[in-house]
Amino acid sequence: MPREHVLIIEDEEDIQEILRYNLEKEGYRVTGAGSGEEGLGKVRADLPDIVLLDLMLPGVDGLEVCKALRRDHRTENIPVIMITVKGDESDIVTGLELGADDYITKPFSPKVVIARIRAVLRRKAMQPRDKDAVIKVDDIVIDPVRHRVTVKGKPLELTYTEFSILAHLARHPGWVFTRYQIVDAVRGMDYPVSDRSVDVQIVGLRKKLASAGEYIETVRGVGYRFRE
Ligand code: CA
Repeated sequence: MPREHVLIIEDEEDIQEILRYNLEKEGYRVTGAGSGEEGLGKVRADLPDIVLLDLMLPGVDGLEVCKALRRDHRTENIPVIMITVKGDESDIVTGLELGADDYITKPFSPKVVIARIRAVLRRKAMQPRDKDAVIKVDDIVIDPVRHRVTVKGKPLELTYTEFSILAHLARHPGWVFTRYQIVDAVRGMDYPVSDRSVDVQIVGLRKKLASAGEYIETVRGVGYRFRE
């Protein structure tokens, strides 16, 4: 079985080395780049299975690298995990909206990095879920065709927008969505949704879900995610 190739784009050599050591120990093939330009060149030349991308790079920064990768049809589907500094929520939001798959914040433990890489690669390998397929998570059953949600067999009265948001999040467990991405996913429905009103919708949704509401997690400063 070919080993999965991880490209690390990170200008700090010690962090690059720690990542390389731990990922190689897990059986990954690892290459590195110390700048945005070099990283872009290596992604285009080698088409790695996944990219770990530091956002703070000299010259072409990580967000620009991410944008460039998503614009090129040869690299648009290569998963990207951003490496960010704690407190940089606005960069995280921008990165997710540019198409990054996930992020980790410095300082991180190698265990967390490996878990994130596995989760993102697993998601990419999954077939996209049929939009009409019934979603079952423990006691929650979501039927997109009938617009019905039950918790422990008990039907919930959700508005169209609440339903759409819940179905979108539950279809992608573990993915972080920014408010804008949620608005974008449910746009065109019968209710005008602004990014702030997403918060209001989520409050209503959690209330109706009662104890099952804890499946909708707030990612502080970034957005929301359905628990994996
Ligand atoms: Ca850096």
